[in-house]
Amino acid sequence: MAQMWIGNEWRSAADGRVFEVRNPATEEVVDTAPRAGPADVDRAVAAAKAAFPEWRRTPGLEKADKLHHAARSIRADREGLAILLTKEGGKPLPENRDEIEWIAGCLDYYAEIGRDNIGRVISPVARNQFNFVVKEPYGVAGLIVPWNYPLLLLSWKLAAAMAAGNAVVAKPSEHTPLSTLRLMRHFEEFPAGVVNVVTGYGPEAGMPLVEHRDVEVVAFTGSQATGRKVAVACAHQLKKCHLELGGNDPFIVDDGVDLDVAAKGAAWACFLNMGQVCTSAERFFVVGKVFDEFVDRFCAYTKGLRIGDPMGPDVDLGPMISAVQREKVETKVAESVKAGAKVLVGGKRPERFERGYFYEPTALVNVTTAMALMREETFGPVAPLVRCRDIDEAIALADASEFGLGASIYTNNLEHAMKAMEQIHAGTFWINDPLTDNDAGPFGGMRRSGIGRELGGEGLEDFRDSKHVHMDYVIGAKSYWYPYRYDRPKE
Ligand code: NAD
Repeated sequence: MAQMWIGNEWRSAADGRVFEVRNPATEEVVDTAPRAGPADVDRAVAAAKAAFPEWRRTPGLEKADKLHHAARSIRADREGLAILLTKEGGKPLPENRDEIEWIAGCLDYYAEIGRDNIGRVISPVARNQFNFVVKEPYGVAGLIVPWNYPLLLLSWKLAAAMAAGNAVVAKPSEHTPLSTLRLMRHFEEFPAGVVNVVTGYGPEAGMPLVEHRDVEVVAFTGSQATGRKVAVACAHQLKKCHLELGGNDPFIVDDGVDLDVAAKGAAWACFLNMGQVCTSAERFFVVGKVFDEFVDRFCAYTKGLRIGDPMGPDVDLGPMISAVQREKVETKVAESVKAGAKVLVGGKRPERFERGYFYEPTALVNVTTAMALMREETFGPVAPLVRCRDIDEAIALADASEFGLGASIYTNNLEHAMKAMEQIHAGTFWINDPLTDNDAGPFGGMRRSGIGRELGGEGLEDFRDSKHVHMDYVIGAKSYWYPYRYDRPKE
């Protein structure tokens, strides 16, 4: 049985309860993890609270050394972490190896900008004064993450929060606690209590963490529905809340591009990790002139993708995370077909698997914007393809969404690229290269896709508060401000 990491000790749940973690490719139990409740959250938050005063005063260079050390140690354990991630999360092994590289890179990035970005000096309002802004950590940060990129998304929060001087309590998804606990082996060099992990089932551990009085800031990545509950709980306590939520990202294909390149880009953006990427392309708008040819090439390429055991060689797509997630996708496809959509590829479970939550990558035409597939997040390997009159219609349809996480375009036309970039609400906009992240660039959602940003300097700022310091360095010098106003001669 795996154990939780609290105050630099491996611990079971206070009441000894556990839950099973299953492999989505085989449905077999990989291991069990502690089923934490409020008592475990209390223990973890107390450990973080006790560690915070010393950690916030730790010099930036020392914090950076520790983060770099963790990054080196994680790289050395790449294979072990990637195998565990594959077993509990279902992404193909090579993609999980990439994920491990990226988290180490993220720790290295924040180790350095955490040292560098220290506030500012501002101009005073009178002589003999000095004004500056210091950036302070909040205290204990509660970090809640989903299962699709469990370690990467945790690292975006954890590295920024710790570099900013906060102590953290993290809660991974119930689907993927094991790799997160293994990751904690690489944080053993940190002072006790600076990093803690509680594992548990959804709200059972998540809500006590959000609502804990000693948690000063909550950073949540997950669905809109859970995000709303987290936001309400934070609002109730007037607590800082950072939300990274879902999307329904548009993908535009313009006239004049190499359609083979665009078709491969579209398949990658839609089917990576079985469409279980927050920035998966979920609505496709193709300019009419090239629609038929694009659809042919996209479908041909999709048919060639290899589905199978994510641990095996030569596999492009593994299973979905759970039976529930697969059923949600099946329902959306069935409802669309009932309303007139036509399945060109996929749209069903592959026959050769007796176990595992596999589903074929799917392409649909004759879709309308009234269908749930086009209005809500799908979070599965489904590409609804829409023919558009021209680029203006494609841009307008792409922007007609309550979400605003990401958006992509393939075009050779600079004017079209810039128009789309300006008019589409999206926290990240990709031109001719979808889904690429950069630690130095902010990531997050416009509209209902979230509040706040991760990565980049913005990601650090979301874990620091500003304190304006005003100093009069000639004591008693006449200022036009209080308290000396009372000394003015009476008129
Ligand atoms: P989810 O909302 O079900 O769960 C997310 C996390 O919250 C999990 O750790 C879960 O255990 C916990 N949780 C569940 N109920 C809770 C509650 N009441 N209080 C506190 N915590 C609770 O999401 P999921 O199914 O794990 O992940 C998929 C979703 O995540 C998708 O909507 C996807 O778009 C989104 N996502 C967003 C981003 C982003 O950066 N914007 C990245 C990845 C995934």
